[in-house]
Amino acid sequence: MPDFLIVGAGINGLLTARELLANGASVTLLDQQYAAREASWAGGGIVSPLYPWRYSAAITALASWAQAFYPTLADELACETGIDVEFCPQGLLMLDSREEAQALRWAAQFGRRMQAIPQPAIYQQEPDLAPGFTSALWMSEVAHIRNPRLCAALLSSLQQQKNFQLLQHRRMIAMDLQGDSGVSVLAQGQNQATPQRLHAEHLVVTAGAWTAELLESHLPADCVAPVKGQMLLFKLDEPPLQRIVLTDGRYLIPRQDGHLLVGSTLEFAGFDKRSTVVAKESLLESAYALVPQLESMQPVQQWAGLRPGSADGVPLIGAVPNTDRVFVNAGQYRNGLVLAPASARLLVDIILAREPITDPLPYAPSRKFRNELTRSA
Ligand SMILES: Cc1cc2nc3c(=O)[nH]c(=O)nc-3n(C[C@H](O)[C@H](O)[C@H](O)COP(=O)(O)OP(=O)(O)OC[C@H]3O[C@@H](n4cnc5c(N)ncnc54)[C@H](O)[C@@H]3O)c2cc1C
Repeated sequence: MPDFLIVGAGINGLLTARELLANGASVTLLDQQYAAREASWAGGGIVSPLYPWRYSAAITALASWAQAFYPTLADELACETGIDVEFCPQGLLMLDSREEAQALRWAAQFGRRMQAIPQPAIYQQEPDLAPGFTSALWMSEVAHIRNPRLCAALLSSLQQQKNFQLLQHRRMIAMDLQGDSGVSVLAQGQNQATPQRLHAEHLVVTAGAWTAELLESHLPADCVAPVKGQMLLFKLDEPPLQRIVLTDGRYLIPRQDGHLLVGSTLEFAGFDKRSTVVAKESLLESAYALVPQLESMQPVQQWAGLRPGSADGVPLIGAVPNTDRVFVNAGQYRNGLVLAPASARLLVDIILAREPITDPLPYAPSRKFRNELTRSA
């Protein structure tokens, strides 16, 4: 029987497994499909909240810790697996922000590098941007990472460890808390007639947008809800930009090999993950308004993912109420990639009762939720 059964092999499940294994535990990681094919694959990989000053101190605390740790994580994974996760600290240019004063105050308060730059400096940095942008906020330290590669590298590293087991295409359908003798989970395999019972000392739920339905008897039904995001991908010979650019909630992310991501929509459509023509047209309009040379091209791919939106915008990290052996790490919403290393570390700090990287209270799954999801940034 493993020490931990983790349900959900997205970025949060993978990093929680890594952190537990590093502390000597044995881990079985379960996913209802292939690992890391949901939000953690679909995301843009910006290693920062988009408008960081709009978030609570609880988000800033996790983001700051994780942003400082990401270069080490990228180096460790390259050594362990040979996979380059393309961690690119090339900065983020926020065009025509109407919240300059608030943003600069936030940056000064939290010691983040942010600068208001005038029009000529914008075009010195990014000559191919559409004309007419008059001001920008420049965050030189913001990085982006190739999230599908990050997940592939994490998985490859986990699979080298003898205390690790991955079970794909097994869906957790029920759990049974057996008091002092551990937990048991009923998992339905894709081609299995009857579900299989899996036992572990502890259970960790990292099931992204699906978390609330798995923990429905312990947590409010709307504590985590799916928020659909659609993206487009262009392929150019050379990236037309060197850094992430953002305006009015839409962004372009240049990959090193000429791929350019356009993101993203924010839709409340339940668990419907289909791409739509309306979203494509809206994203194209945003992309053309930023880089006119894209008008002569067609995107090579469109996809959608489901962000795990927590009701109050703060993730749920810690023990599940009224249980001894069940933990949750979910609800990171639009910031799941940037927050993931800190979320996993904090959860394992809580599990091992060691000095936490930040005060765990704001993330407590037992808190009262005020539903602000439709209003969050
Ligand atoms: C379009 C888009 C753009 C984004 N851009 C960014 C960005 O630039 N930066 C950033 O920080 N964040 C971004 N995000 C958010 C980020 O991707 C998510 O917050 C993060 O990936 C959530 O990770 P997760 O591991 O919690 O969930 P997921 O990656 O969704 O993983 C959950 C896993 O649980 C599994 N699962 C669910 N139910 C069960 C079950 N019953 N049994 C077994 N397995 C189960 C699923 O199959 C899935 O693999 C973006 C998201 C989207 C959709």
